[in-house]
Amino acid sequence: MTPHDNMLLARHALLADGWHRNVLLAWDANGDLTGVEPDAAATLAIPQADWVLPGMVNLHSHAFQRALGGLTERAGEHAQDSFWTWRDLMYRFANRITPEQMEAVAAQLYVECLRHGYTAVCEFHYLQRDLDGALYADPAETARRIAAASRQAGIGLTLLPVLYAHAGFKDAPLKPEQRRFCSDPDLVLRIVDSLADLRGPQLEVGAAPHSLRAVSQAELRELVQGMPAGRPLHIHVAEQELEVRQCLDALGRRPVEWLLEQGVVDERWCLVHATHLTGTETAGLAASGAVAGLCPTTEANLGDGLFPLAPYIAAGGRFGIGSDSHVSQSPVEELRWLEYGQRLRHQRRNVAASEGQRDVAAFLWQQALLGGAQASGRQLGVLAAGRRADLLVLDSHHPNLDGAGADHVLGRFLFCGNDNLVRDVLAGGRWVVRNGRHPDQDAIARRYGTALRGLRDA
Ligand SMILES: [Zn+2]
Repeated sequence: MTPHDNMLLARHALLADGWHRNVLLAWDANGDLTGVEPDAAATLAIPQADWVLPGMVNLHSHAFQRALGGLTERAGEHAQDSFWTWRDLMYRFANRITPEQMEAVAAQLYVECLRHGYTAVCEFHYLQRDLDGALYADPAETARRIAAASRQAGIGLTLLPVLYAHAGFKDAPLKPEQRRFCSDPDLVLRIVDSLADLRGPQLEVGAAPHSLRAVSQAELRELVQGMPAGRPLHIHVAEQELEVRQCLDALGRRPVEWLLEQGVVDERWCLVHATHLTGTETAGLAASGAVAGLCPTTEANLGDGLFPLAPYIAAGGRFGIGSDSHVSQSPVEELRWLEYGQRLRHQRRNVAASEGQRDVAAFLWQQALLGGAQASGRQLGVLAAGRRADLLVLDSHHPNLDGAGADHVLGRFLFCGNDNLVRDVLAGGRWVVRNGRHPDQDAIARRYGTALRGLRDA
């Protein structure tokens, strides 16, 4: 390590309150930022970059689904394809994948995420049992595979072992095709406990009750009460209208309404999707301090619906983005579709903005950072001393950024063209992408190819 390997002088860096010039960034061997000093004097020996911004958090991932991308886009017999018919296809796939293949697929995904600007991911991990539905000798076997993949790629990880106990409301027993997900609060808490050795600056462990369909009220309480204090808790909720109707039938309340009434939802929580909300639920979710985990490309791909973003923002609600099924691995596409969905819905422009921030791209990037950081349970989201050294350097020589000023650089980044403008990526104080390339991307892609062929032939 030469003296300046852990420093970068950003001619422009996006800090919590906007762009600053000549920001000297320094980090320690642990991967934490130790200094963020605007208006610093340039020193020739220190590496320099034009446009530097915090790396994005991907707050919702099912890594194995990366291998399914593009394979479910063919209309079925009766033109009634839905989330539920997609889920049947996904289950068939989930019941073939081995731990080795899971690790190879996750590593490929995480490299792609890094190359497009995500420096952290929250893995909502429910494939925990073996192909026959038995526990592995180490019940955390597949969770450890995910962690290994994150280390190979160099991405930060929040690992969320999933509680999945029922096939539907009213404690419906799991179906045979759900055998690999089967868990109860005790098993999830044991897995969380056994992963303690992995916790550190690059990895946190939380938990995820899968959904109100898959978890009873008593199981939800047992899991929440058993979790160590301060750990992130994620749940899928109100993604589909059918789920809302079933919840009303079983619990007498809509899903988010019911969850808020339990009195447990607070800043530890990320409510993933939360697509179908009444005005009261929207205000209640905003007031809870929890994060709405929005996954616009997956929600579009699965025909879920559109989140009520405008009233949620007006109520001060927090949100982040996730790539969920991984039809996209780019935060640019996620945020672009988040805004475009709202424009199409309301037939107006520039929806995601506030009184204090009228630049839509800046609003989206900064808010998704804050929400993603909160949902991750890690020290992320802002370039500030004590936070992780997770940052992106944009390609200032690309025509889309040529001559850009601070007022327009994020607008050009998020809303113009399809080239990847992320040139270099630092994650946890390590340069994991240089000039668009990850040092191990070829070897990781080869293992991914082998895994895919194995899955196809299984
Ligand atoms: Zn999901």
